[in-house]
Amino acid sequence: MLKDNLTAVERRIQEACDRAGRDRSEVTLISVSKTKPVEMLKEAYDLGVRIFGENKVQEIRDKYEALPKDIEWHMIGHLQTNKVKYIIDKVKLIHSVDSMRLAETIEKEAEKHNRTADILLEVNVACETTKFGLNTEEVIPFYEKVSLFPHINVRGLMTIAPFVENPENNRSIFADLHKLYVDIKEKNIDNDTVSILSMGMTNDYEVAIEEGATMVRIGTGIFGARDYSK
Ligand SMILES: *Cc1c(COP(=O)(O)O)cnc(C)c1O
Repeated sequence: MLKDNLTAVERRIQEACDRAGRDRSEVTLISVSKTKPVEMLKEAYDLGVRIFGENKVQEIRDKYEALPKDIEWHMIGHLQTNKVKYIIDKVKLIHSVDSMRLAETIEKEAEKHNRTADILLEVNVACETTKFGLNTEEVIPFYEKVSLFPHINVRGLMTIAPFVENPENNRSIFADLHKLYVDIKEKNIDNDTVSILSMGMTNDYEVAIEEGATMVRIGTGIFGARDYSK
């Protein structure tokens, strides 16, 4: 099942790239393995998957211990400041920075570990009250502040679009985030650190790719439906 799913997702990513006149190498697939058992991740690993996305600190810690060390772990979920210390040395990228307090904590922990943390700013493009993320108009001032932190590299932007039946309904959200991403890239002329636009999930990743996503986060489409009852 996993193999067929991965093949299908890979084909659809390629087709979306073709439609948009983009090269497949411009889009990184994050396999979102949250709630799934280690054995399933191992199976994906054996099929060549090396980039996993998780949204819970404890789950990253457990899976990090249990699986090979050449895996890239991406923190895609809401991150509490008091838990930054548990994952700062384990994750490749934090997709979900949405407050100055969190950015300051990441700066402090990264300094302690003598490293630079790569982060994305999470943007609540659709202004959904149920979602985390900066409002669109907060992003540039926030970026200008955090890009001065010596132990943080702001690599780009991330959004979680609303769940919609028809993915076309999210196209304007992806287009808006892409516009903001281009604005921020222009402020970053000296060094080329801003290069990631993380948007698109199982239901809408093809539209996201057409609108410029450089990372798509796909869970259900690869690992099947999640069971939260256990
Ligand atoms: C769960 C999750 C995903 C993957 O969602 P699917 O619809 O299963 O592909 C992507 N991004 C974030 C932030 C998530 O929490």
